[in-house]
Formats: sequence, structure tokens, C-alpha cells
Amino acid sequence: MALTTKLAILGGGPAGLTAAIYAARGQLNPIVIEGVSSGGQLMTTSEVENFPGFPDGVQGPELMENMRKQALRFGTVFVSENAHTVRLGSRPFAIVTDAQEILAETLIITTGARSRSIGIASERTLMGRGVSVCATCDGFFFRGKDVAVVGGGDAAMEEAVFLTRFAKSVTVIHRRDKFRASPIMLKRAQDNAKIKFVLDSVVEEILDGGSGKVKGVRLKNIKTGDLSELTLDGIFVAIGHEPNTSLFKGQLELTERGFIKATETATSIPGVFAAGDVQDEKYKQAITASGAGCMAALNAQWFLDEHDQPAETPADAKVVAAQSTAKESTPPTNDAGTSTSSVVPPALATSTASSP
Ligand code: NAP
Repeated sequence: MALTTKLAILGGGPAGLTAAIYAARGQLNPIVIEGVSSGGQLMTTSEVENFPGFPDGVQGPELMENMRKQALRFGTVFVSENAHTVRLGSRPFAIVTDAQEILAETLIITTGARSRSIGIASERTLMGRGVSVCATCDGFFFRGKDVAVVGGGDAAMEEAVFLTRFAKSVTVIHRRDKFRASPIMLKRAQDNAKIKFVLDSVVEEILDGGSGKVKGVRLKNIKTGDLSELTLDGIFVAIGHEPNTSLFKGQLELTERGFIKATETATSIPGVFAAGDVQDEKYKQAITASGAGCMAALNAQWFLDEHDQPAETPADAKVVAAQSTAKESTPPTNDAGTSTSSVVPPALATSTASSP
């Protein structure tokens, strides 16, 4: 028997968990299909200093665990399996994992994006130890240090300029001598006295000198084959992002770069919403993902108010990995009576929920 629900949330990062907290408090009994490794990109982040509410910072995994507990508290059910197929042709939408099929009246997609990586082993082992994929998140830790940014697009230029607020020097390492970055962003970087460029070069190895922390890089000039070393304290990889949208190709409208096209979280299919990095090519922050997750949950609630079809979660349904954690949760409640969702008139929702 398929598991049925008013709302399924695909993905368990900040967007998915925030959507779950709002939807659970709104009595939607959401099911979060969080995958076998939950939590999203923050699970591989150490200190998070820019998420409001944590004056002393918080570890990424701890932040995600707290969000998950908060979602559980209001009755969210977690399915710790990967979805391999999604059918969005008609409602209820179907999400299929290896073990079961989930039929959902509404769906919030929060499958995220992953930073492209250079693809060398030392990049992985030194991630969070001087290797970063987010200058906004980690730039602060490199005050007075020498850092590099890899990439030749707008993101690399933006990160390089941003990093000059903290770093002593910033070296942009780019594999060509032509840039994908827009002229204005490139000029801003070129005009900055702290920024220098190493072109036609790729990072062959990130060096730690046995310390477990970034100490430099070995570069290869791809035109001459020459090898050189650069002493560094940090390296920021800014070579683009890949959205996790393969499940939705041919079903939902995507942007040129493969992100989900969404307007105020509403996708091209009514009743399907998207939040977080999977639909965000610009901001890509945990807090903006959480904000979008909140918007998506409210939109799903308003959509259901308009197109209501009650669906219950069968008690005997097989919910893998939910049993132990569900015991920790308390039943859904609206005891505070202050849910934002409950005070917003459904009429407001119509345009948001139904626009493509
Ligand atoms: P992007 O435009 O795709 O640029 C990626 C860069 O990384 C390219 O220079 C590319 O080199 C390089 N690269 C890719 N794979 C690599 C590899 N394996 N090794 C070394 N270098 C590699 O990505 P983005 O800079 O993240 O920008 C994404 C989108 O967001 C763009 O539309 C951009 O305009 C936009 N954006 C806008 C702003 C802004 O306006 N403030 C800021 C950031 C991003 P090649 O050039 O040789 O392919």
C-alpha cells in the first residue's frame, strides 16, 4: 500500500526542514523524504556564524540536527531513503523510493545543489580545513591571510573582491586567459590592488605539509606544462553549482542551467513548490533556503485550502527509519495559536500558489 499525505517534502536541508516545521505546525502532517544522508550541505560545514540566533556561532551538523528535532516535535515523519522516481503528471504526485511509494497532494522540492569540485583528493580531505566553497560563510576566518579563488566566472570575481575585506592577498586561479565573468565584475576584481591573477593554470594538488591544514597549492600551467607552488592559507573553489534536478527533467520547467524555475516558490506545476538552492542561482545561503522553505510551506497550505482533498497518513505504513525518531516526537499541535500560516487569509494565496 502506498503511503499518502497532504504534503511531501523532498530533501532534508534547511529549506526542507523549515518547510516541515511550518507545515507540521499547520497540521499538514508532512512526510520528509530526507535521503540516506540527511541535512544537506551544512552537514559538511563546520562553524556557521551568520545564521541568526546563534551569537557564538553553531556547528553546521548541530544546526541541522536542531532543525530536524524541531520538525519532529510537531509530528513530521521522516523517510530516510533516496527517491529514485517522481511522477508529477497528475495529483496526487508520486515519489518512489526503493522501499515504497508516497502519494502526496502537494510537494515541496528542496533537493539542493552541489558545488562543482575540482576533483582532486586533497580538495576533499582539506574541505573545512582551509578549502571552502563559500566566501560569504568562511571569508571571516581568513583575516590577514593569503588566499586563492579558483574560477573565472562572476562568482569567482565576486568572492575574490569580497575576500579582500579580510585577506592580505587574493590570487584568482583560472584555467584560461578568457573569462566567463561579466566585464564589470572582472574589472572590479582587476582594479583591486589586493587581487592578482594566475591564468591558464589548474590546481594539481592542495598542499598541507602534513599539517592537515591548507599551506599552499601546486599549479600547472596548461599551455606550457610548467609546475609552480603558491603559499596559501585558504583556497575558495568557485567554479559553479550543479542543481539536484535530474528527477524532474521533462516534468518541471528548468532554467538554462538546470535549476527549477520558481516564482515565490511556485513551479510550473500547480501544487509543486520548490525552495532552497535547487531554485536559487543567486543567494545560496542557509538562511535564504530556510526563508524559501517557510514560503513554500505556506503556499502548500494555501493551495490545499483552495483544492482541498483530505489525506491521512496510514498508521501501518512502512516508514523506514522513522520509527525510532518518531518516538521522540510529540503529536502535531497548534497550541500556541500563533502560527503565521493560520493568520494569513487563504485568498492571498491563490495567485502565489497557482502562478507558474
Ligand atoms: P560559471 O559562470 O559557470 O563559471 C564557472 C567558472 O569556473 C568558469 O570560469 C569555468 O571555466 C570555471 N570552471 C568550471 N569547471 C572548472 C574546473 N573543473 N576546474 C577549473 N575551473 C573550472 O559559474 P558561476 O561563476 O558560479 O556563476 C553562475 C551564474 O551565477 C552565472 O550566470 C553568473 O553570472 C551568476 N552570478 C552572478 C553574480 C552577480 O551578478 N553578482 C554573482 C555570482 C554568480 P571556463 O570559463 O574555462 O569554463
